Amino acid sequence: MSASRHPALLATDPELASYVTAEESLQAQTLRLIPSENYVSAAVLEASGTVLQNKYSEGYPGRRYYEGQQNIDRVEALAVERAKGLFGVDHANVQPYSGSPANLAVYLAFAKPGDTVMGMALPMGGHLTHGWGVSATGSWFRGVQYGVSAETGLIDYDAVRELALTERPKIIFCGGTALPRTIDFAAFASIAQEAGSILVADVAHIAGLIAGGAHPSPVGHVDVVSTTTHKTLRGPRGAMLMCREEHAKAIDKAVFPGLQGGPHNQTTAGIAVALHEAAQPSFVTYAHAVVANAKALAQALLAKGFDLVSGGTDNHLILMDLTSRGVPGKVAAKALDRAGIVVNYNTVPFDPRKPFDPSGIRIGTPSLTSRGLGVEHMPTVADWISRAVDAAAKSDEPALSAIRAEVADLLSAFPAPGLPVA
Ligand SMILES: *Cc1c(COP(=O)(O)O)cnc(C)c1O
Repeated sequence: MSASRHPALLATDPELASYVTAEESLQAQTLRLIPSENYVSAAVLEASGTVLQNKYSEGYPGRRYYEGQQNIDRVEALAVERAKGLFGVDHANVQPYSGSPANLAVYLAFAKPGDTVMGMALPMGGHLTHGWGVSATGSWFRGVQYGVSAETGLIDYDAVRELALTERPKIIFCGGTALPRTIDFAAFASIAQEAGSILVADVAHIAGLIAGGAHPSPVGHVDVVSTTTHKTLRGPRGAMLMCREEHAKAIDKAVFPGLQGGPHNQTTAGIAVALHEAAQPSFVTYAHAVVANAKALAQALLAKGFDLVSGGTDNHLILMDLTSRGVPGKVAAKALDRAGIVVNYNTVPFDPRKPFDPSGIRIGTPSLTSRGLGVEHMPTVADWISRAVDAAAKSDEPALSAIRAEVADLLSAFPAPGLPVA
């Protein structure tokens, strides 16, 4: 593989160029199973690396604090129109720098420091920004947290309702980072209505599944939809906030000038392209294939004797509890990495181990589906994972190297979007 894809970079800064080239090889030759990651298309990559990045444009289309916005306004208006069309919302703000600042903007719009806010606990599958203690959202606000049932691994909606009615939070977040099952937005909506809370669906992980019709949409049930653009949606790193017209002003004011300065216009352009791609029939196929692959992979892992939180998956994500295999999540994740399979170690609900050394690993199918792998490949993937976990238990490095070669061999027939062909 040559670095000639980046000739100017190579000429100016060969050291940095070499790291980029090495990362291209790594992403091409490894099986990337981190469920929050994906491969963007070459078109999204190009849009994200344009001279739009040279422009300051504080404000919104038609209402800027700087001149020379004739093209930037069109780019942002196009992204907004595409977001509204794809998700069927009244209003979209495409300026949040990423998912965490998008969520912070929601707090700014609807709560005051010290107010009670409610979300899923981080070790149960929630996100830091849903009021967890180490996050600003858990120290500037009073976070109360719900979880899943110990028996089923599923959200206990009766417990959520009880907590909401006792605590009367200003804001309730639903959604998370390690939830393998469908979120019942209607159930959350009736709880939020009873409790008098603003309901936010944080669909960062599943936005692409929603866009492709492979997960129910929160639109019509919730006050605000928050999402990243770079996970299943397959766009550049960024975020969007979407809402009904009644909340549009509050959301826009919170993002700018409340929280942020100038939007990252090159990212807005990449988001616009990703939304265009996500509106194509092929993306419906993609979203359903992501879920079909995850279900097939879950079946194959169960057949290998693995314990899966909640017993399987409805979406793109599988949470594996490795306790019964006698291998801690971190040890397994590091061994899998050496075997060319990239995952992250993760807490499982009611994990007796520490967050930095938990019992589980979290895997998902968005990236491998972007490469064109199908359900017929999932038994092979499950076999690699099983062999690598066993090898981790025995510190069998040759076994890990052998898997790494098999992985690279299969993947060479499935070039990833946006990457040079090896
Ligand atoms: C990824 C994620 C975020 C945060 O996104 P960043 O872009 O990493 O800040 C927020 N909420 C959920 C549910 C996520 O999965």
